[in-house]
Amino acid sequence: MAHLVVLSGPSGVGKSAIISEILNELPDTWLSVSATTRTPRPGEVDGVNYFFRSQQEFDDLITHGELLEWAQFAGNRYGTPRRAVQERLDAGIPVLLEIEVQGAMQVRAAMPEAILVFLKPPSWEELESRLVGRGTETPEQVAIRLETARSELESVDFFDHVVVNDDVSRAALELVSYLS
Ligand code: 5GP
Repeated sequence: MAHLVVLSGPSGVGKSAIISEILNELPDTWLSVSATTRTPRPGEVDGVNYFFRSQQEFDDLITHGELLEWAQFAGNRYGTPRRAVQERLDAGIPVLLEIEVQGAMQVRAAMPEAILVFLKPPSWEELESRLVGRGTETPEQVAIRLETARSELESVDFFDHVVVNDDVSRAALELVSYLS
């Protein structure tokens, strides 16, 4: 059975950089593309970064049971298309999900064999400065994401592994070991 690894962690912790390294290291790993009601950021492409969906379209995905998990995060909804994940796992391809904590908990319930990894910032100050520094959110949105981060950091005990993102390459290697 191929591995299903779920990577969670507060917004701004550096999940994307680590995922790039993992995919370089393990090119056969499949990174799931989520559906979201969030507006695309500049440069984000529909079907690549996310499937950008209207509220109605997202409602339909839920109603038709097409999502493995979904959650509300900072005012938007996000969910993992079920079939694409199952097809990869059935074909023996390792799957990586990059989702927030409530979604990780739903994956645990639906697929108990999933490996849940929480990526932690080296410090709270570091997280704040990364989230503000990347400049992709308004100050109001940053405040909401930091508030969410505080409660997410309280959920670490739920995870199988906690990885501190003090060094991207080292943290990525730790994740590679869970996928292979
Ligand atoms: P962003 O808006 O920064 O792209 O993502 C916000 C949060 O939503 C991140 O913590 C990200 O991991 C999470 N997220 C992305 N896709 C999904 C998904 O399919 N399900 C859940 N539960 N969370 C997701």
